[in-house]
Amino acid sequence: MAAGSPPAAGRTALVVGGGISGLLAARELARAGLHTTVLEAAEAWGGCVGRHDVAGLTLDSGAESFATRSTAVADLAAELGLGGHIVAPRPGGAWVQLPAGPRELPKTGVLGIPANPWDPEVRRSLGLGGSLRAALDKLLPASVGTTAEVSSVSALVRARMGRRVLERLVEPVVGGVHSADPGLLDVDMVAPGLRAGIARHGSLAAAVAAQRKGTGTQTTPTHGAPTEAKPAKAGSAVAGLKGGMHTLVTELVADLRARGVQLMPGTAATGAARTPNGWEVTAGESSYKADVLVVALDGPSAIRLLGKAVPALAGHQPGPGPVVKLVTLVVDLPALDRRPRGTGILVAPQTEGIRAKALTHATGKWDWVADAAGPGRHVLRLSYGRSEGAQAAAAAAAPGPESASDEALLDTALQDASALLTVPVTREALVDWDVVSWAGALPFAAVGHRQRVAEVRQICAGTDGLLMVGGWLAGNGLAAVVADTKAQVTSLLA
Ligand SMILES: Cc1cc2nc3c(=O)[nH]c(=O)nc-3n(C[C@H](O)[C@H](O)[C@H](O)COP(=O)(O)OP(=O)(O)OC[C@H]3O[C@@H](n4cnc5c(N)ncnc54)[C@H](O)[C@@H]3O)c2cc1C
Repeated sequence: MAAGSPPAAGRTALVVGGGISGLLAARELARAGLHTTVLEAAEAWGGCVGRHDVAGLTLDSGAESFATRSTAVADLAAELGLGGHIVAPRPGGAWVQLPAGPRELPKTGVLGIPANPWDPEVRRSLGLGGSLRAALDKLLPASVGTTAEVSSVSALVRARMGRRVLERLVEPVVGGVHSADPGLLDVDMVAPGLRAGIARHGSLAAAVAAQRKGTGTQTTPTHGAPTEAKPAKAGSAVAGLKGGMHTLVTELVADLRARGVQLMPGTAATGAARTPNGWEVTAGESSYKADVLVVALDGPSAIRLLGKAVPALAGHQPGPGPVVKLVTLVVDLPALDRRPRGTGILVAPQTEGIRAKALTHATGKWDWVADAAGPGRHVLRLSYGRSEGAQAAAAAAAPGPESASDEALLDTALQDASALLTVPVTREALVDWDVVSWAGALPFAAVGHRQRVAEVRQICAGTDGLLMVGGWLAGNGLAAVVADTKAQVTSLLA
């Protein structure tokens, strides 16, 4: 097949990686008539959209919600028969733990960046001086923060809204969502369309407001050309699925089976080579041939797999993502019925004495978890882990809690939960617990990553029958991954 020419129906496709991007790519390929096989290293499907059982409850072990800034995930859920299961979190919102104490997290932000610096919740977190400085954003020319030199989240926020917005709102949110220091993150990867929104709407606050209303520019890079994702309803931010996000994977796998896709769990790809007609992938003793190869792995693994077959990719290896550990506690503690911190609390990095980055009060956030748990029983999920770069260097000198044993991490989690919720969360109250480790699963969108993505995509577009998809290219999060994977496969088949 020549580069760019459409693969005809009846041809074969091989997808390596059975996370959400690989499964979705397989679905799109099968729908187009390609005989499709998916290789997945683990025994379970879904990658970061996993499940685990704790105290008899089946819970999400990774992703537990999706951003509703576009309808990409909701549309997919509806296609899979889960439209009626889409649920909003319980009202009340989340909190942020600042060195000065807990505050309600403003509800109208993007990555913690406020749409209105004078909103009472924003004002309480920033103080008068902080709100005044943030309000300067409206008076600054649109060029401030939108030049090529300003490429990190920190640089943008600091330039337009000042240090307090960065430290008190953005760092906790970015730490909780991306496990990363905003000084290291490429703003165009983690908040696509935001800088373009400044030029369009005149200020950062207005760009944030437009994204929240669903009128901003949400671009997902494809084979070179950006696509616009459909905006969601005004005011919404995240949603979940009754029964858990992992039910999306269950339905996706059932859909693939019904379409005749060959599913190969427990099959780790170890090498890829080009053949005269397409591709050959080896997995242990076995090998698989296909006309089209879709690599849906994390960045380092994807480049390793293809480095020999496509030498031009070899120099484009991204850094590994951080190790993130999630501690789930199921406790009998009726004192938590009043949801002291709403749906949960993010922790500002400067806060002393607390080692968690964030705590999700799952029974305070989702009705379906509360109903499944029953009266007085609560599910808490604390996350630990650091990003690459400066913080990783600090971690080497003084290892973080994520490198401790599970038992030691449990003690830390109980202490942190007690401090964050202002209710003693003790071993006596503990019904069951679990620690899930996600090593390198969160892609690290370092400054310059967007450029790397563009180059990788260009190389793939020029290589017969090759496509790469996944969070490391699309941007972290299900909304980005789902929209981008569909767009990428469509563009390959077009
Ligand atoms: C702890 C955590 C919580 C998250 N929470 C949210 C959330 O609430 N909302 C949200 O929108 N996003 C969330 N995310 C991000 C979101 O889950 C990811 O962006 C998305 O699931 C990535 O999907 P993917 O298919 O690109 O990668 P992955 O899910 O990482 O899938 C890659 C797959 O490839 C497999 N694999 C690896 N090597 C090989 C090999 N050699 N051969 C075959 N298979 C291989 C892996 O086992 C894995 O199944 C979270 C991520 C993590 C880690």
